[in-house]
Amino acid sequence: MKVACVGGGPAGLYLSILLKRQDPSHDITVHERDPEGSTYGWGVTYWRGLLDQLHARDPESARAVEENSVRWNQGVAHVRHLVTRQPGDEGHGIGRHKLLEILAARARALGVRLEFEREITPDTLPEADLVVAADGVHSALRTRHAQHFGARLTPGRNPYVWLGTTKVFDSFTFAFVETGHGWIWCYGYPFSSARSTCVIECSPGTWTGLGLDRARDADGTARLEKLFAHVLDGHP
Ligand SMILES: Cc1cc2nc3c(=O)[nH]c(=O)nc-3n(C[C@H](O)[C@H](O)[C@H](O)COP(=O)(O)OP(=O)(O)OC[C@H]3O[C@@H](n4cnc5c(N)ncnc54)[C@H](O)[C@@H]3O)c2cc1C
Repeated sequence: MKVACVGGGPAGLYLSILLKRQDPSHDITVHERDPEGSTYGWGVTYWRGLLDQLHARDPESARAVEENSVRWNQGVAHVRHLVTRQPGDEGHGIGRHKLLEILAARARALGVRLEFEREITPDTLPEADLVVAADGVHSALRTRHAQHFGARLTPGRNPYVWLGTTKVFDSFTFAFVETGHGWIWCYGYPFSSARSTCVIECSPGTWTGLGLDRARDADGTARLEKLFAHVLDGHP
């Protein structure tokens, strides 16, 4: 079968791995609009249950993902000046770059063709028996056929920002900070020996109250750094 995957994110790459394992004679191409190695973002987190599923479906890539992940089994919550630490489920963090690198290498090793800098539009679909819309949350293909797929997109209410820090958290960390404009909170987790992800979220009122809607990137980040300085231990 000739398969064209539109999008080389985790979904497109992993599907191509699964299809090749099922039948190596499939002719599979992944079309990714961005250059290789240029993904956005910091680390992503996942839990033991997912890792078990990956091991069951493709042990080779699962081993590489596990070896390149950081692991923890505690949760910490900072609320005002209170800190509680609880045992929790086994959590893992891996850099999004690393994850995609592993999946791309595995797909290639199985004979999948990866074409980077190749944007596909609903009007320029490749010739194939099966076209897979793996083009992410803003999928142009799914949007074009939204009625057929029954796809619905529901935007959440809160603004959030996905940041990275050189503070290496030792466990999954939540911090809630009360400001004059309401609460703002972050969650962080390590994804390498030198970096952690730090996602910060608040209500729209707090966002505008703190001026984060109007701040330039560097000013906004500096404000957030100050609010969470006690959790970041002075790290940027
Ligand atoms: C801030 C944030 C934090 C997150 N943290 C986590 C986490 O910790 N753990 C977790 O499991 N998940 C996390 N997620 C969710 C995770 O990122 C998504 O579930 C995952 O990326 C979805 O994979 P995907 O392959 O479907 O889409 P994507 O990762 O969005 O990949 C789609 C790909 O398609 C490409 N593309 C788009 N349009 C075209 C086109 N027309 N032609 C060719 N290529 C195209 C894009 O460039 C992209 O590479 C997070 C998401 C966000 C926003």
